[in-house]
Amino acid sequence: MSRSASSRANKRGEPPPSPEPLPAPALDSHTHLDIAVGGEDRLPADDEVDAEIAAAAAVGVTRLVQVGVDVPSSRWSAALAARHRSVLAAVALHPNEAGAGAATPEALAEIDRLAALPRVRAVGETGLDRFRTGPEGWDAQEASFRAHIAIAKRHGIALVIHDRDAHPEILRVLDDVGLPEHTVFHCFSGDAAFARQCLDRGAVLSFAGTLTFGNAGYLREAAAIAPADQLLVETDSPFLTPVPHRGRPNASRLVPHTVRALAEVTGIELPALCDQLTATAERVFGSW
Ligand SMILES: [Zn+2]
Ligand SMILES: [Zn+2]
Repeated sequence: MSRSASSRANKRGEPPPSPEPLPAPALDSHTHLDIAVGGEDRLPADDEVDAEIAAAAAVGVTRLVQVGVDVPSSRWSAALAARHRSVLAAVALHPNEAGAGAATPEALAEIDRLAALPRVRAVGETGLDRFRTGPEGWDAQEASFRAHIAIAKRHGIALVIHDRDAHPEILRVLDDVGLPEHTVFHCFSGDAAFARQCLDRGAVLSFAGTLTFGNAGYLREAAAIAPADQLLVETDSPFLTPVPHRGRPNASRLVPHTVRALAEVTGIELPALCDQLTATAERVFGSW
């Protein structure tokens, strides 16, 4: 998600209570702690962030991937991962930022520099967004996506894709340049047919709170056809809060709602699913 959407997201009411702890450790493969804790206008203090990470760990969410959307948040993400053992970082210029001209040579060079750091394990979120960016920004967005794919490959780390209303265009670019070894569709938003195309290319589908939404039967169908080792879960917090707290601010400690929904959809017992999600995350991002 983009920083510009955050002021709305953070003003939608009180934080929900934490759910019942998971029976085994699991993870949040995509969170924006800077926005979730600090909001749009300031970066949070270390002790505030540490409290949020501890609240997630208290319900079994012991591993987090903190995702940058621009140069400042990517630097912040890399620094958090360097100092906190529960956190790995992803760095990138968000597609909507790129569509607005942010993917300058200097900015991409900084993403490339950050991607070399030992606790930065993914390039993302990058991709295409044809919902918030109009046609005038599409060329710049695609050029940035291609540059980010090259950075992920150069450093041998994962690619985290943001795909909003751009399923065929994303596959066109990926098929043109080839997928990195580990590619994640963050907040997977397609149906079973699109899921099949992504899975056949070896990609991992990461499901957000949208999996729990009443009108998202197509997402549950997509999750149901995925092999167990090509599934991840995430919050994309502070966005996309799962049922029963939809409409309130999201946080990593709420991902158990989505894990439980995924267990129901896939028919995998909850403890086994938690173990599988952790194994998949460590395959994709490396060990924490
Ligand atoms: Zn996104
Ligand atoms: Zn995001």
